[in-house]
Amino acid sequence: MRAQPKASHYINGRYVEDEQGEVIEVVYPATGEIIARVHSATPNIVELAVEAARAAQPTWARLKPVERGRILRRAADLLLEHNEELAKLETLNTGKALQETLVADAPSAAEALEFFGGAVAAFNGEQVELGGSFGYTRREPLGVCVGIGAWNYPIQIAGWKSGPALAMGNAMVFKPSEVTPLSALRLAEIFTEAGLPDGLFNVVQGLGDVGASLVAHPEVAKVSLTGSVETGKKVQALAGGEMKPATMELGGKSPLIVFDDADLENAIGGAMLGNFYSTGQICSNGTRVFVQSSIYERFLSRLTERTSAIRLGDPLDPETHLGPLISKAQYDKVLRYIEIGREDGATLHHGGGTPRLQGLEDGFYVEPTIFTDVTDRMRIAREEIFGPVMSVLTFDDEDEVVERANDTPFGLAAGVFTQNLARAHRVIGALKAGTCWINTYNLTPVELPFGGVKQSGFGRENAMAALAHYSQVKSVYVEMGDVESPY
Ligand code: NDP
Repeated sequence: MRAQPKASHYINGRYVEDEQGEVIEVVYPATGEIIARVHSATPNIVELAVEAARAAQPTWARLKPVERGRILRRAADLLLEHNEELAKLETLNTGKALQETLVADAPSAAEALEFFGGAVAAFNGEQVELGGSFGYTRREPLGVCVGIGAWNYPIQIAGWKSGPALAMGNAMVFKPSEVTPLSALRLAEIFTEAGLPDGLFNVVQGLGDVGASLVAHPEVAKVSLTGSVETGKKVQALAGGEMKPATMELGGKSPLIVFDDADLENAIGGAMLGNFYSTGQICSNGTRVFVQSSIYERFLSRLTERTSAIRLGDPLDPETHLGPLISKAQYDKVLRYIEIGREDGATLHHGGGTPRLQGLEDGFYVEPTIFTDVTDRMRIAREEIFGPVMSVLTFDDEDEVVERANDTPFGLAAGVFTQNLARAHRVIGALKAGTCWINTYNLTPVELPFGGVKQSGFGRENAMAALAHYSQVKSVYVEMGDVESPY
């Protein structure tokens, strides 16, 4: 299996190589095979990328928003035309099941380009009456923006960041996670094919040090990171040192609360999607499933039954539900957390094993896992695992569960399942989380802002909120009379 790109980086509308950069091996997580090699960006490559973006941005910003938008919408169409190829590439790079990557990866990036390509023309400043005189505000682009991605949704993250950035008239230098360098390069090619002028979307590969050098670069005006809290703190500090705005989409340990009047099958479906989709590697996952005591036995029994039917297997097989974890490091981390759960006294109710699948013996597979008898203080209930590990906790009443749900330094997401309308809205109102669901879980349409509070970050992706983060406000006072001066 090979997925070797033409070169490691994409700068100024073409592939660029610099073999001086450290080699990064790209692994197919289902087999452990090396499918490509790229080079980390050298300082020279970082300089080329930032310079290309800097040079291209002013002309792009002068285009009418509808003209910029038209190019983005063309790119969205091309992403959808190439969806099958892109889904396969994403599956090879991440190990996520093809049945997921066909619907959730390039299509989500396309949706972002389509949305922002249209919405930007309606995103304007205000006119302000000042009693005879008036003022107005302009929404201006920031210049060169840097996007840094995590490995769980590589092309989606690239689309969610480049869509609003480019629509608003900025240029972008994007650094994918070093684990998943491939699909952002294809996105860059597709932008070029759609007519995006050279230099506006550049991709450079590398580890954290490359990300840091981009953040610190004096020509870079803004940073958007998707990653862990730990990395977020470093990037935030670096950007803050230069007084650059930064938006942070970080990790979580989100609560999903199931009240006794919930539609049980829907609640179980939500809990499974919110723990096992993408092999559990989703930042907003509802990994603390709080179930009201009176329905606990029924909930657990159906959850177990349905979880047993999940098909692990070859991610390229369209029948497979669940692929492997992204890497050996993530596999080791998840297995360690399963051990910690047992050591801390939780009951390993289901899964926890590492199946050896025929032909995929070296893949990083972990069974969908359910822990019961979990208490709030256990590490598996407090720390982000980023794997298919669900903790089921019980509760008795509403005030108690809200307090326990909020007892975490994270605040990315939360979900409530209940048929009681008033309770649904009351509980959501009391939960400290940036992105919430009532009677579903983990849906992130581009029309709704997405992001976290507390240590899960700040700023929002998607919706008009994202355009605000990729622009700055200029206030203009227009005097209609004379200047009243005492001098
Ligand atoms: P990391 O935090 O390890 O890395 C994120 C990105 O930051 C990578 O591209 C990484 O490069 C880069 N990076 C690392 N150190 C620095 C630095 N000092 N300066 C600049 N860039 C740096 O996250 P993972 O890739 O492991 O992704 C998993 C995490 O991402 C989870 O915590 C998850 O919750 C979170 N996440 C959040 C989402 C959200 O929207 N809120 C969505 C998806 C994931 P490299 O990897 O090459 O070293």
